[in-house]
Amino acid sequence: MIMSNFEQTLSIIKPDAVERNLDNEIKELFKNKGFKIVKEKKIQIDKTEAESFYKIHETKPFYNDLCEYLSSGPIIVMILEKNNAVLANRDLMGATNPKDAIEGTIRKKYGISIDKNSVHGSDSLENAKIEIDFFFKD
Ligand code: UDP
Ligand code: MG
Repeated sequence: MIMSNFEQTLSIIKPDAVERNLDNEIKELFKNKGFKIVKEKKIQIDKTEAESFYKIHETKPFYNDLCEYLSSGPIIVMILEKNNAVLANRDLMGATNPKDAIEGTIRKKYGISIDKNSVHGSDSLENAKIEIDFFFKD
């Protein structure tokens, strides 16, 4: 029996990619993989908001730089929808470090470094709901 598992996940096109005008190309990659972009907005967040968004990483050595970076320029936040969206998005994004990302992934194609890795994606269905609420609850 084929089980359908329709999900929504949160994707962010990070400052390094927006700055290089890669947003439309990256959105095409999502659409080509069957994702529907349900909602999207281009925003810039301040450091306090970035700290709140990345709170799970607050004890990590890279936390401060990460929050500086995410708030350093415009980003595009999107709700993506498809079957198994959370995992499918993580697969399409590729490994956190672009050096480890496999061919065909967004981070392999566009990532500059482990910090400037072009995209964010929720890592679980539970976090997807929290992250979608963070940016789109009104
Ligand atoms: N990051 C970093 N240095 C590290 C690990 C992570 O700068 O050693 C950044 C990187 O931009 C990553 C983000 O912190 O995307 C969040 O880390 P996570 O482990 O959640 O990776 P992701 O879920 O984005 O693949
Ligand atoms: Mg993560």
